[in-house]
Amino acid sequence: MFKNTFNFENYLLCIKDRNTRQKYCQIRISAHNLCIESERGIKDTKDRLCKLCLKDVEDEIHFVTDCEFYEKERCELYKKLLDILPDFKNMNKIEKFKIIMGVADCDVVLHTASYIKTCLSIRSELMAKS
Ligand SMILES: [Zn+2]
Repeated sequence: MFKNTFNFENYLLCIKDRNTRQKYCQIRISAHNLCIESERGIKDTKDRLCKLCLKDVEDEIHFVTDCEFYEKERCELYKKLLDILPDFKNMNKIEKFKIIMGVADCDVVLHTASYIKTCLSIRSELMAKS
């Protein structure tokens, strides 16, 4: 169990823009369910493949830390996060995910929320084309 369980109030106060806040919440809430899912074992892997890269199951970890279609945006996010969290570069993607979705630091939350919002719109543009 994680001691730093999700503190909804903190990030709600940080994110002023309603639309950004909603998108951030979506990812964060399902990220919370993720660990329960992985304990149960994920079924029907191929049905849940990322429709953009087709390389992995599209869960929140893939979306936030892994998918190559958001590489450029992720690079920018990681650069900003490195200033706030110097240990960040030594972490693996699961650790990075836990940190960026779990830290109740306003700057981290704001950078992450705007990254998620950008990625989700890239995603829906690409999905609409395919
Ligand atoms: Zn992908």
